[in-house]
Amino acid sequence: MNLNGKTAIVTGASRGIGAAVAERLASLGANVAVIYAGSAERAAAVCARCRELGSAAARAYQCDVADFDAVKRTVDAVRADFGGVDLLVNNAGVNRDGLLPTMREADFDAVVAVNLKGTFNFLRHCSRLFLRAGGGRIVNISSVAGVTGNAGQANYAASKAGIIGLTKSLAREVASRNVTVNAVAPGFIDTDMTRAMSEKAREAALSRIASKRLGRPEDVANAVAFLASDAAGYITGQVIGVDGGISL
Ligand code: NAP
Repeated sequence: MNLNGKTAIVTGASRGIGAAVAERLASLGANVAVIYAGSAERAAAVCARCRELGSAAARAYQCDVADFDAVKRTVDAVRADFGGVDLLVNNAGVNRDGLLPTMREADFDAVVAVNLKGTFNFLRHCSRLFLRAGGGRIVNISSVAGVTGNAGQANYAASKAGIIGLTKSLAREVASRNVTVNAVAPGFIDTDMTRAMSEKAREAALSRIASKRLGRPEDVANAVAFLASDAAGYITGQVIGVDGGISL
């Protein structure tokens, strides 16, 4: 696989899965735009690693993915800096877990705004570019929770199921124009997000994973890199589980 000369936007790339995706794409030769919310130093460190691994250019952009106009400005800036955009990975995400009967409205709105609307915002601004350029690759990070639901995560699961709806609908709209749109649905991956879980919740999750281990960010990054490559040109509208068998 080779992404030499391609430019990738990766949202939420300052840490966790997004950082691993940025670095994997860089190792295949892609230029990378590292989108982050607040972690400027970590985003700069990811850019430095991307350059070491093979990116001709890697640059960090602060952008709240939930802000439609800010996303447009960011996509325009990436285009101006790199001369175009070829790949989009919608990875930025948050959770605010709680049982639905007592869930605060603000916790529902915040999760949907970042996870679902944020994904829409980048799809909206990048898909136009890809159609004009005659091709592109899009990978959206959903979750096993979006496929099966999860008690205590109704807001998160709804946002991740929504991402699957966006993925399949846009895939139908743009397939004939050499743009593929797929989703990856990770299970439990060892990142800040899962480190924030209680020990009891982590153990309960582990007991449900057929592989008997949490996933690594690199496990997800490998699937994303494949879907972003020419080798996956005939795959579109799919949801690929990277979950160690938790959804079996
Ligand atoms: P993480 O370690 O908590 O990192 C979240 C990333 O998203 C950070 O780079 C953060 O930027 C960025 N972000 C958050 N809100 C943002 C906003 N409003 N605008 C721009 N960027 C924002 O999360 P992760 O575990 O790597 O998860 C990455 C994705 O995978 C998420 O969509 C998550 O839902 C999904 N996922 C994770 C798991 C898992 O087990 N970890 C499982 C299934 C799906 P800052 O660093 O600047 O805050």
